[in-house]
Amino acid sequence: MTVHVRPAEKDRFNSPLWRDKGLAALALQDMQALTGQVGRLAGQGPLGRHPRRIAGRTGKTVNIMEVCGTHTMAIASSGMRRLFPAGLKMLSGPGCPVCVTSQGDIDRVLALAAMPEVTLATFGDMLKVKGSLGFDLNRMRENGSDIRVVYSPLDSLAYARSNPLRQVVFAGVGFETTAPLIAASLIRARAGKIANFSVISLFKLVPPALKLLLSDPESNISGFLLPGHVSAITGVRPYQFVAREHNVPCVVTGFEPLDILTGINMLLRQMVRGRAEVEDEYFRAVKKIGNPTALRLMARVFSPADVSWRAIGVVKKSGLVLNPEFSSFDAMRRFKIVCKEAPEPRGCLCGAILMGKAQPPDCRLFAKSCTPSSAVGSCMVSSEGACAAWFKYEH
Ligand code: SF4
Repeated sequence: MTVHVRPAEKDRFNSPLWRDKGLAALALQDMQALTGQVGRLAGQGPLGRHPRRIAGRTGKTVNIMEVCGTHTMAIASSGMRRLFPAGLKMLSGPGCPVCVTSQGDIDRVLALAAMPEVTLATFGDMLKVKGSLGFDLNRMRENGSDIRVVYSPLDSLAYARSNPLRQVVFAGVGFETTAPLIAASLIRARAGKIANFSVISLFKLVPPALKLLLSDPESNISGFLLPGHVSAITGVRPYQFVAREHNVPCVVTGFEPLDILTGINMLLRQMVRGRAEVEDEYFRAVKKIGNPTALRLMARVFSPADVSWRAIGVVKKSGLVLNPEFSSFDAMRRFKIVCKEAPEPRGCLCGAILMGKAQPPDCRLFAKSCTPSSAVGSCMVSSEGACAAWFKYEH
């Protein structure tokens, strides 16, 4: 039976229906039946119009990747994984911003923070990621570096305005969700001629990461739960290639328990019907065309560029660099920072986890030498990291 949650318009974001246990139980029954059907169809061979791909990618287990770190945390904190059918496996993807920031980029941020004239502003999660020399921004702050946690880049711009003798650098990590805010800050900084403000742009784009995952011949991903927040900006069009060229079903999904269960069931239903499309479960927030204002801001300030992802390497056109009009606000140019990429910590499986090829308990360091209070890799550091989520809720 199909479960559809349809709260009243005024409650569409906060309705308790999104967390209703009875509806969740029905959705889980649905999931059990659909997973069984996918398994049987895969066992028989061709599935609908896209035979080999879906059957080949399902095999004995239906592997669904939740691309976004917020989904990873929501799945772990709700405890729903324990209730999933045996034939269904959820894999975490490369959607945790701090986790995918390369070691070299972390070293660059640390080098900027070490400069006496610099006030470094960033999001809280960045404070705990160790550089290749084994220390983090927290340690530098204790030792006297001027490092501030902000909730928005606009806060750091305001700080720069009121402290003209300090060089304020915002270290921006994230995906399409956060980049428009930085773009707005830079447009304001340029208009206001705020010369003591700059940005280190470490933003990444989701569709090129999906392209990389799908180009891997070892990929065993049967379907994608796509990120709701990112899609509120981009819309659903940038994902069409996943369905059209790779025949892999996609569902843009919200973050409440019923959103996630429904999103998974929509994916399974596509597989049963032999379809591969991009569907939108989170239509209360995501429109097909996304947010045109935010997209215009991003296009004015940033262009896509080849950038390095932690433990994955350089991914084509997967990051955002400042356009020439804004290049004077590029902190890397202003302070001439150069750092080489450094290797990942020995034994850390973050790269395999981010590519959906391993789960945190597969790492022999998990919960032994690597814990949130003594993290070895970035997936244990960030509040959206897969290892941190497993450790906190599923260990
Ligand atoms: Fe890396 Fe620690 Fe996760 Fe292992 S448990 S993959 S060392 S972050």
